[in-house]
Amino acid sequence: MSIPVLTAVAWPYANGPRHIGHVSGFGVPSDVFSRYQRMVGNRVLMVSGTDEHGTPIQVQADAEGTTPRELVDRYSRVIQDDLVGLGLSYDLFTRTSTDNHHRVTQDLFTALWNNGYVRTEKTLGAISPSTGRTLPDRYVEGTCPICGYPSARGDQCDNCGNQLDPADLINPHSRINGETPQFVETEHLLFDLPAFSKSLASWLDTRTHWRPNVLNFSKRLAEDLKPRAISRDLDWGVRIPLEGWRDAPMKRFYVWFDAVIGYLSASVEWAARTGDADAWKQWWCDPEAQAYYFMGKDNITFHSVMWPAFLLGQNGEGDRVGEVGSFGHLNLPTEVVSSEFLTMSGSKFSTSRGTVIYVGDFLRDFGPDALRYFISVAGPENQDTDFTWDEFVRRTNFELANEWGNLVNRSVSMAAKNVGAVPEPSAPDPADEALLAQSRAAFATVGDHLARSRFKQAIGEAMRVVGEANAYLSHQEPWKRKDDPARRDTILHTALQVVQDANTLLTPFLPHAAQKVHEALGGTGVWAEQPHREDAGTSGELGTSHSVLTGDYAHEQARWESTPIPVGRPLARPTPLFAKLDPSLGETGPSWAPIQTGE
Ligand SMILES: [Zn+2]
Repeated sequence: MSIPVLTAVAWPYANGPRHIGHVSGFGVPSDVFSRYQRMVGNRVLMVSGTDEHGTPIQVQADAEGTTPRELVDRYSRVIQDDLVGLGLSYDLFTRTSTDNHHRVTQDLFTALWNNGYVRTEKTLGAISPSTGRTLPDRYVEGTCPICGYPSARGDQCDNCGNQLDPADLINPHSRINGETPQFVETEHLLFDLPAFSKSLASWLDTRTHWRPNVLNFSKRLAEDLKPRAISRDLDWGVRIPLEGWRDAPMKRFYVWFDAVIGYLSASVEWAARTGDADAWKQWWCDPEAQAYYFMGKDNITFHSVMWPAFLLGQNGEGDRVGEVGSFGHLNLPTEVVSSEFLTMSGSKFSTSRGTVIYVGDFLRDFGPDALRYFISVAGPENQDTDFTWDEFVRRTNFELANEWGNLVNRSVSMAAKNVGAVPEPSAPDPADEALLAQSRAAFATVGDHLARSRFKQAIGEAMRVVGEANAYLSHQEPWKRKDDPARRDTILHTALQVVQDANTLLTPFLPHAAQKVHEALGGTGVWAEQPHREDAGTSGELGTSHSVLTGDYAHEQARWESTPIPVGRPLARPTPLFAKLDPSLGETGPSWAPIQTGE
């Protein structure tokens, strides 16, 4: 049965290129999962985009002497390049600065407002004494009252991550001219998160299949909910559709509020692009549909507490009950799949400390599948994990090149040289049958792991088939069977069939290599589709063209099953699948990210 599966991928913030820590959290796992779901015949909708509003964008635009719009246009493009280069198969990767996103955000807010889950609150806002004008949050700086960090901003402390109000800061001062701001009464919007304590707790109690770290963390969060501000004094973001607020020059939604709504708005945009404006409802309103959210662990709170509370509020399912909003009854997440952090020498990747490896640099030198493999087999699935060049070189050379690349190469080469085509098998012996049975059985075990986002176990089982096939060839020695071509051909046919099976099992992880193996086995057409960039016209606050990532994955040939390799199909000598890396790379790192020594 074909199930609608929503893959909701965390939205990268459009303030710079992505590093490999980012894509190990949200990127590669979500794509492996989506590719598998498509291969088993489910209807996948994989959506995301760049998160483009908020104070940090404005601060950075100020620092670079440019406008927020120019900044997000530039970085959304850089990020799209990173993600398309990795082969992440989004159905739609869009941006939060579109008209559509602004409208969907406002409509969802209206439902929360109508149901009484948002109230206004008088707080103290900063104004500049010299001009009498509102001082945006980003221009108010002072010492964090929670951690003592001296350069906390008016909306948030970058050191401890806590949300702040400008009036909370100790020794507040204007970043423009150093003057001490005056604080006057202003209004903000507060989301009544505590009104969802009961409904969130009972929903989380049903999520027994989640990774334990995610579930336990989420339950602890849900036990202590406080009202959260959803507006800021800011002039870059989504306007607030209330009388007296709509045209206010300095009132916008808080960036985290509009960003999580992006999953819904991107689905709505995707549907509009297909010409069937209601098509998104298959993934959001059908009770049989499933929704999987992928992110790094620093984003769990937004996906397991805040976003479900918005959905419950829109559905009229919090303490105050209420009406179902204009979107209809929306599904809550089936699962929040969170990764831990990929670290370097024990620390989070950090641009300021120089411990950073950008996706673009990595792809240029090593290609996408080596990184996809490393993240899948050795990434931070369940615990913080250190990236080392040494391990990357070892896994690329010994696992990808020696094990998998070599199995493909020697099987196809021998068949090409001796027969010129897929050989015809004769009576199989028990060793042949045992290997074939093993690779057929792997579809169930690997598939079960993938359906549960257990990527390490899944790729481990797939690579076990590769290892067994290499052992089989070494033991059967088809190259010594000149006197018995019938037996030789049976061995080679068996090996090629297992190469075909292993390639299918590895397709979600290594889609680029999978296409090459498909062709090396004499196949034609698209085995595994890749995303591309498309111009979506101008939209929203964007003065320039709004480009998206999308792809037509329906015509992929890859299916999650063992398909017989056709006897007699012509074969040619293949080119090597994976280039071996110079072992010295493991000691020095590449020139653009040298390993720091002597600390
Ligand atoms: Zn702090």
